[in-house]
Amino acid sequence: MGPRRGGTVGRHRVAIVTGAAQGIGAEAARRLAREGHAVAVLDLDEHSCADTVADIVDKGGMATAVAADVADAEAVERAVTRVADELGPPVVLVNNAGVTRDALLHKMTEVDWDTVIGVHMRGAFLMSRAAQAHMTRAGWGRIVNISSVSALGLRGQANYSAAKAGLQGLTKTLAIELGPFGVTVNAVAPGFIATEMTRRTAERVGVPWEDYVDRAAAAIPVRRVGEPADVAAVVAFLASEDAGFVAGQVIYVAGGPKG
Ligand code: NAD
Repeated sequence: MGPRRGGTVGRHRVAIVTGAAQGIGAEAARRLAREGHAVAVLDLDEHSCADTVADIVDKGGMATAVAADVADAEAVERAVTRVADELGPPVVLVNNAGVTRDALLHKMTEVDWDTVIGVHMRGAFLMSRAAQAHMTRAGWGRIVNISSVSALGLRGQANYSAAKAGLQGLTKTLAIELGPFGVTVNAVAPGFIATEMTRRTAERVGVPWEDYVDRAAAAIPVRRVGEPADVAAVVAFLASEDAGFVAGQVIYVAGGPKG
C-alpha cells in the first residue's frame, strides 16, 4: 500500500508510530497527523493498519501503512528505509508497540520473558537505531518511548515492568547521546488506559470490563481511567518544536503522581 493523501498537506514532518493499528498508538498517529505530520502507521501487518490510515486520510492527513515486527532487525531496517523513500526522512519516532505476557515469576516461561523484553526493549532499540540516522542527518528529531507505571513494579508483570523500566534507562541514555544532534528523547509512562490491552487483562482475571474500570478509577486520584487521547496529547507535545528543551524525562500520565 503506497502513501495515501487526503486533501492538501503542506510542509510536513514524517513520523513513525509503532503499534499504531489500535489503542494508544492509533490515537498518537491520528493526533500527530492532525498536527501536520505525515505518519507511517507501523504494526505487525499492513491490513491491521487500514482503519488508522483511513481515519487520517479521511480528515485530510497523510499516512501510510507499514508492516514490521519491531523485534526483527531486518524488518525494522526495511521499514524505516521504506518510510524514508515514500514519505521522507522520519524525524519523529514513537516507540509504542507492546505486548503483555503476565504471570507470577514461578509460572513465567522463558518465552513470556523473551517476548515482552523483545518487543518493548529490543524493538525500541532497533527502531531508534534505524531512525536516528535520518534525525541526526536532519539535525532535528524527536523520539518518544511509551513506558508504563508498571516500571515501578506490578505483581505478575516481572517481564513487562523490567522492560518498561529498561525503556526509561534507554530514554535517558539516548537523550544524552542524541541531544548534541538536535534530537530529544523522552518517555511517557501511562497508568490505566482503556484499550484492548486492558480489556484482555480484565478478561484474563475474569472481571467484567465495567467493574474492572470502576475499581481502577476508584484508586486513581482524578477518579477516572485514562483514554488513548490522554497519552496522545503528551506524545504530541514531546514531538513538537515547543518541547525542544525537554530531554531524558519520563512523564507519568496516570491521573495522579505515580512517578
Ligand atoms: P494494544 O494491545 O491495544 O496495542 C498494541 C499494538 O502493538 C497492537 O496493534 C499490536 O499489534 C502492536 N504490536 C505488538 N507487538 C508488535 C511488534 N512486535 N511489532 C509491531 N507492532 C506490534 O495496546 P495499548 O494499550 O494501545 O498499548 C500501547 C503501548 O502503551 C504499549 O507499549 C503498552 O505497553 C503501553 N501502555 C499501555 C497501558 C494501558 O493501560 N493500556 C498502560 C501503560 C503503557
